[in-house]
Amino acid sequence: MPKLDIHLFPALDDNYGVLIHDAGANVTASIDAPDAKTVEKALRDTGWSLTHILVTHHHADHTQGITALKSTYGCRVIGPKGEAEKIPGIDEALAEGDVYRFGNFDVEVLETPGHTLGHITLYLPAAKIAFCGDTVFPLGCGRVFEGTMDQMWSSVAKIGALPADTALYCGHEYTLSNARFAETVETGNGALKDYIATAKTKRERGEPTVPTTVKAELAANPFLRADRPELAAAIGMAGASAAEVFGEIRRRKDNF
Ligand code: ZN
Ligand code: FE
Repeated sequence: MPKLDIHLFPALDDNYGVLIHDAGANVTASIDAPDAKTVEKALRDTGWSLTHILVTHHHADHTQGITALKSTYGCRVIGPKGEAEKIPGIDEALAEGDVYRFGNFDVEVLETPGHTLGHITLYLPAAKIAFCGDTVFPLGCGRVFEGTMDQMWSSVAKIGALPADTALYCGHEYTLSNARFAETVETGNGALKDYIATAKTKRERGEPTVPTTVKAELAANPFLRADRPELAAAIGMAGASAAEVFGEIRRRKDNF
């Protein structure tokens, strides 16, 4: 079983950058590129040399470092086919079902539209990790900027259908603010209370709440629980479809 090293680091105001490194193949990828200087510092800290940038979506806080990093390292830029024209320096575009080979690891591509129309999630089954960009956050989900609520629900549910022990890396540290909203949705959820207590402790210690797991989000994240009868009942929508429930809680969060 090849080993994948992972280095998570804060970038910009509340973004996360991630480097993944396969020592066996001597390849290193930056997941998104929030800021070239911060990614370069992470490379110095780890001693790894950048060979790839894997991009989840086109927003500036995920792509603005690409051009400078590519000119310094000559790395290969891989990103979503659905919005390839918005990804600077893209060399290879990936769509649903594609499998990209990164060193000794398969990277499976899941299209997860909604936050942006071309957004992809990168899933490495052998490492049990997925990089879901701004689709699922601990106790939250991304704003639906370009797609529809139905699309975003399908995308969130697709991530929720990954194996329960999959580690989820997302693009931001929003957990405590997501927690304040989640508490108003499902007041009686004990798993949510425990999750929030743990997250508060981590943040007080200056630790990230990322990565989370599929299992933890299915238990506590209201957006991943939109198909649960108890969640629909909790917001007075018993019998409504999961997409309707999801849309309602996303709208409530937008106005929270
Ligand atoms: Zn975004
Ligand atoms: Fe973002």
